[in-house]
Amino acid sequence: MNLHEYQARELLRRAGIPVPPDGVATTPREAKQVAERLGAGKVVVKAQVHAGGRGKAGGVKLADSPEEAERTAAKILGMKIKGLTVHTVLLAPAAEIASEAYVGVIVDRASQSPVFMVSPAGGIDIEEVAATTPEKIFRARVDARYGLLPHQALGLAFRLYHDVGPARQAADILQKLYRAFVDAGASLAEINPLVRTPRGEIVALDAKIVVDDSELDRHPEIAALRDPTAEEPSEVQAREANLTYIRLEGDVGCVVNGAGLAMATMDLVKYYGGEPANFLDIGGSSNPEKVVNALKIITADQDVKAILFNIFGGITRCDDVANGIVAATRQFTVDRPIVIRLTGTNEQEAVEILNGVGMKALTDMDEAVKQAVGLAKGAAAA
Ligand code: GDP
Ligand code: MN
Repeated sequence: MNLHEYQARELLRRAGIPVPPDGVATTPREAKQVAERLGAGKVVVKAQVHAGGRGKAGGVKLADSPEEAERTAAKILGMKIKGLTVHTVLLAPAAEIASEAYVGVIVDRASQSPVFMVSPAGGIDIEEVAATTPEKIFRARVDARYGLLPHQALGLAFRLYHDVGPARQAADILQKLYRAFVDAGASLAEINPLVRTPRGEIVALDAKIVVDDSELDRHPEIAALRDPTAEEPSEVQAREANLTYIRLEGDVGCVVNGAGLAMATMDLVKYYGGEPANFLDIGGSSNPEKVVNALKIITADQDVKAILFNIFGGITRCDDVANGIVAATRQFTVDRPIVIRLTGTNEQEAVEILNGVGMKALTDMDEAVKQAVGLAKGAAAA
């Protein structure tokens, strides 16, 4: 789960990291009031969306007065950044910047540890830095038993600043960032830019925290920060329908029971030259309602050219799935070809239900995947 910048800033603030004060607004008028309340004169107005590169997209702007903040907010609110509509802006007193650094900590799968990454070349071009001058990025692996050790923090901090004053401040911030990262159950926590002001103070001007969904049960206060208006609508809809759904880039829509089979199905789609449009697990005990919801979500994706059901009936009953498919086609038009493969519990009943409405079912997984990939390709070519 992604947090908004204003939420992440608050978590960092609570961890003791210097973050300038701020306020959020959902209308230009409110933005003006927040700017007045901040009493800073010059403010920065920032789009609150779950996307990086807001600065480059025009979603971060300076304003000289509350009146200008109002006009700036009017431009940013409603704007689309990487497909996401801006509903909220954050306002903060504009900081003066002497230099911008990057600091972040992630859960690194390769080393199975938290890993810190820092760079003195922070700011909006950090991806560029990573790609073209990777030697400007410094790493330190953390042993989760001990946390970020003081000498590690200071070692990283001296990569950012040569002077001992700023380096000490940065080391302290890194330690606090690690605490915030662990306390939130995060998979990523980063500050970019971490700036040095002309007066030598080190402050965090942007914050990004991604929380591992599996940690949310242990952190109800973090789970409560979820903002469904800021997420991919189809994924929100799926979560509400108790489906595990992740949208992908391809054109073969997949409806599968069980995560393992869903992965195997996606592999096979790729093996036969296709691209899955999604991962979708309808779960173990699938009632027809779940199948209807799954089809609604998949058909709403205009990139989907063919739909593939792959059901291995165990606890999931094939007839439930068949009834779901029939119910869906009665409730709305499914205007894309469907290939159905099912086998296992109540397979025969399912076949009869489907045949009754003129649909066919296969039992062979390879055959079904090949057909679905072929239909998607044919539709794309047409
Ligand atoms: P991002 O592009 O989504 O990462 O948004 P950021 O919050 O990191 O802002 C992008 C850039 O805007 C920063 O790297 C800064 O150069 C600039 N910026 C952000 N806040 C301020 C501020 O308070 N004062 C000044 N002068 N520039 C800022
Ligand atoms: Mn940033």
